Amino acid sequence: MLIRTQPIDIQVAWRRLLAQQIGGMRLSPTQIERFNAASAPDRFRHFLISGVSALVLFNLFLVSDWYMVRDVFDLAVTVRLYMLTPAVLLLLLTGYVLWDWWLAHTPPWLTEALGMVGTMAVSASLGVVMLETHSEQLSMYRGGLVPILVFGNLVQRLRFRFALASTLFNVGVCVFTMIVRQDLPRPYEVIEVPLALLLMLVALYTLICNFNLELDERQRFLQTERAQALRSELEQSHRSLDEMSNLDPLTGLANRRRFDAYLAKEMPGVNATDTALALMLIDVDHFKAFNDRYGHPAGDQCLRHIAQTLKEAMPQQEGLLARWGGEEFAIVLPGANRQDALAAAESLRRAVEALRMRHEASPTAGHVTISVGVAMLSQDGGQDAVRQLLARADQALYQSKQGGRNRCTL
Ligand code: GH3
Ligand code: MG
Ligand code: MG
Repeated sequence: MLIRTQPIDIQVAWRRLLAQQIGGMRLSPTQIERFNAASAPDRFRHFLISGVSALVLFNLFLVSDWYMVRDVFDLAVTVRLYMLTPAVLLLLLTGYVLWDWWLAHTPPWLTEALGMVGTMAVSASLGVVMLETHSEQLSMYRGGLVPILVFGNLVQRLRFRFALASTLFNVGVCVFTMIVRQDLPRPYEVIEVPLALLLMLVALYTLICNFNLELDERQRFLQTERAQALRSELEQSHRSLDEMSNLDPLTGLANRRRFDAYLAKEMPGVNATDTALALMLIDVDHFKAFNDRYGHPAGDQCLRHIAQTLKEAMPQQEGLLARWGGEEFAIVLPGANRQDALAAAESLRRAVEALRMRHEASPTAGHVTISVGVAMLSQDGGQDAVRQLLARADQALYQSKQGGRNRCTL
């Protein structure tokens, strides 16, 4: 078997990888706005918690100061304990007290910027000590800049651009103090360049991690947004399917399915009390002849007109009008007594007649008419109440038809 392999173009692969990496970071301005707004509360909480823990560790390093730069220990205490600690504590406390206000009134980048300034201030405090000390341990002491990098980029997880600025500042402090403090006798001078290289390596790797963490967060955000959009689309189509399955497409009225469900729902309530309920069955007179005379499309149009008229003439009380099937309609009127029901049926019949839709083939009238059968729910129907009600309404409709059509029977 011959297997053809394509040579891998390293340059193309590299460019693709880079585009995926960098491109993944790119969101549209509105997406970024939503991303920042969505992540702001969590980030704010994270900043407060990591800020407190960092402050504790930062002061623990006074032990290192005591051992390594004892000549400026007072300065170290002043800078760490009396200046930075109260300032950061005040900031954290203010943030804690004004939590809701802060989130509502300040842009998310301000929190990031303050976090960055805090991390830079810590690097600067080490720089100040390094500029003042005459300790022979200075070369080793500079290593204290490494945990600050790790904190800012991986623990505090500043947003990438802020992490980059804080990292550059940190590396700057390292290089600057190396250049400026050549005046001292430094027995560990040989370690300075390797240590600076190590710092830069840590800077690079923690920045890459920081970038990837933010990338992951952005991609998770996009996936969540997509999932939410899909879910609401699904809910929407579920709703419209549900509506469609309950509607008659020709007239826009409720269909038989909806009608049956409505009637079943209304029934137990009626059985429980002695509330009245009326059912009407409406049938268009001589409709076959109408179709034969004017054609099926005209018949459809006629049914739409009748549906609309019945809808407008329905009594204002609660109830349901449905297309029962073919040229038949049904109405349930919960709470209606005999007089109400008969009056409603009569006004519906008159409303259709008033349309004066031409029906030259009708032996009843020269226009379209309807016959109505009305039945009242009897209290002793029990489980069979619905079936009995329908049968009696059908019987009443039959009587209307037998009695000459264009009439109502109860
Ligand atoms: P009656 O007065 O006894 O009710 O006579 P009828 O002609 O109305 O009764 P029949 O049951 O014989 O005929 C009903 C007709 O209704 C037959 C059928 O073609 C028509 N029909 C049923 N559904 C539709 C529809 O959706 N559109 C149209 N145009 N006609 C329909
Ligand atoms: Mg019929
Ligand atoms: Mg009919």
